[in-house]
Amino acid sequence: MKINIAIDGPSAAGKSTIAKMLASRLGYVHLDTGAMYRCTAYKALEEGISLDDENALAAMLAGADIELTPEGTVFLDGRDVTTAIRQEQVSMAASRVSRHARVRQDLVARQQKMAAAKGFIMDGRDIGTVVLKDAEVKVFLTASVRSRALRRLQQDYGDKGTDEQLALIEKDIEQRDYDDTHRSNSPLCRAEDAVVIDSSDMTREQVVDAILRLAQPYLQEDSCVQQ
Ligand code: C5P
Repeated sequence: MKINIAIDGPSAAGKSTIAKMLASRLGYVHLDTGAMYRCTAYKALEEGISLDDENALAAMLAGADIELTPEGTVFLDGRDVTTAIRQEQVSMAASRVSRHARVRQDLVARQQKMAAAKGFIMDGRDIGTVVLKDAEVKVFLTASVRSRALRRLQQDYGDKGTDEQLALIEKDIEQRDYDDTHRSNSPLCRAEDAVVIDSSDMTREQVVDAILRLAQPYLQEDSCVQQ
């Protein structure tokens, strides 16, 4: 039997990395919902649409084609925007467009349609609480601000990161945490039935193994779990 796995949590907690690893272990599809909010923000910035104009954003989105391939490539209206949507300016703009109810309704409907077939690992902020309320496994993946910032520093600068850069990243993470948890539409919060995993002192493999243990009771011989 194929199931759906919901992974929610704050920025830079490693949700996408873990979801990708899980998808490859289970032969499932990873769906990075943050990429859809990023595409919305990217298109709005490109077209000069105000990030505060909910109706204009909703109209823009109605005509937008967002495609996420199982390999992780993101296409917006047929163009590969995988790298472009990772820019800092787009991250901040994604947080702003994600506050609007009409933007969320559109993207949530697309996500639910995609996951109806089961066999998805979906990561975001509202997956366990809104998008896939009936997901068999729900995880709230978190880590301390310091360890999330250290991981991002390593990712962006390798071993050359400075204390100043670390402080800036920490500030950015705190700001996005605040924005994501304080918005009125679908704020980031743990679903009642989600299992909290604090990955501050865990390796990626340990996190993946912990989630596979939660999924194990639902998995039968037809799914291929590579050990
Ligand atoms: O996960 P990622 O950092 O790529 O998400 C970008 C932004 O999109 C987040 O800061 C968050 O505000 C928003 N988001 C959301 N709901 C989701 C996924 C992302 O509101 N399911």
